[in-house]
Amino acid sequence: MTAPDEHPLTGPGLDYGPANDADGTRVVRAGLPADEPYEPPLPGPVFAAHYHLPDDAALDGYVYGRDANPTWSRLERALAELETPGDPDTEVISFSSGMGAISAVLLSRLRPGDVAVLPADGYNLLAALRTRLEEHGVRVRTAPTAADAQLAELSGAKLLWLETPCNPSLDVCDIARLADAAHAEGALVAVDNTLATPLGQRPLHLGADLSVASGTKGLTGHGDVLLGYVACRDPELAGSVRAWRKTVGAIPGPMETWLAHRSLATLELRARRQAGNALALAEALTARPEVRDVRHPGLPGDPAHATAVRQMTRYGCLVSFTLPDRAHAERFLAALRLVGQATSFGGVRSTAERRARWGGDEVPEGFIRLSAGVEDAADLVTDVRHALDVAAGG
Ligand SMILES: *Cc1c(COP(=O)(O)O)cnc(C)c1O
Repeated sequence: MTAPDEHPLTGPGLDYGPANDADGTRVVRAGLPADEPYEPPLPGPVFAAHYHLPDDAALDGYVYGRDANPTWSRLERALAELETPGDPDTEVISFSSGMGAISAVLLSRLRPGDVAVLPADGYNLLAALRTRLEEHGVRVRTAPTAADAQLAELSGAKLLWLETPCNPSLDVCDIARLADAAHAEGALVAVDNTLATPLGQRPLHLGADLSVASGTKGLTGHGDVLLGYVACRDPELAGSVRAWRKTVGAIPGPMETWLAHRSLATLELRARRQAGNALALAEALTARPEVRDVRHPGLPGDPAHATAVRQMTRYGCLVSFTLPDRAHAERFLAALRLVGQATSFGGVRSTAERRARWGGDEVPEGFIRLSAGVEDAADLVTDVRHALDVAAGG
């Protein structure tokens, strides 16, 4: 089954206008200034540590390079348009990396004695962040992403952190259900939306207070930029995250920011192609007897599929699966021609890795996370089948 092409807001009878454009249309214009004769559509990066500042200048303009930059402003507007099309209240604060954005939310919002509920199976650096939070007196509870298990930990919580689909096991939780329960406890709800990108899932529409992501992966998609962002609608929340960025200085470089904005124009093409390739690979892997636990939220038989269909419009570029043992997995990776061995994911070139080599994730030795690029689907499937044959030959 393939993801629907249209944003759910589109449809016959609805108003004609930017809020109803489909994603493929929205991404090519998102965040661009109004057309101006003899000016470029996307102005180049502004490299400035400080700006001219007359005596009577309004201090909320561009003053100092750690506070604001016009290149950031354009990307932040673009991402706000993608996270919540047509909603002028959404603010985005960009960061130097996904971890910069995640840390900003957790460290700026939690105080000693507060309870935070994190996923037990989220991005592997969450464990390091947990240690930091506990050093500062925050009480951290964890539960797996699958089956909305974090629901059972919410009593008295100040903040609920979700990651769905979670990386690398690709389980999914029900954002709306968890957000309702967390709000009833008075907790803030943040979703790590890295894997889905705003074209695959809109956490703020599903009831989350914050959508947080690494832009390093599928969002920028070329494996040449580190970036992160936080999106939210509440001005107080946005202000506190912005103030945190200024204090710790985790600001994105203008060049990275501009490259990210330039890459957004192809986000819909890449996301569509990658999701199609991931599904084709997942189906091919499922047919192999030596491959166990093939996971991809778009796969109709996947345990996460029913929830994914309700809250996602595209299912992402990742497929995970388990080969019999470490040696088998290493033979498989070495035999691939079109799929490079690398960590990270979401790039235009397919990559894969044996996650157990990092030690952080609780996965079997033969567990592989494969990121589908934008290559031709049939070529990728042939390459993976060939490598499986080579690996099975011992
Ligand atoms: C990569 C990743 C991060 C961290 O992002 P960086 O840009 O590498 O700092 C956070 N969450 C998820 C789900 C990721 O995949």
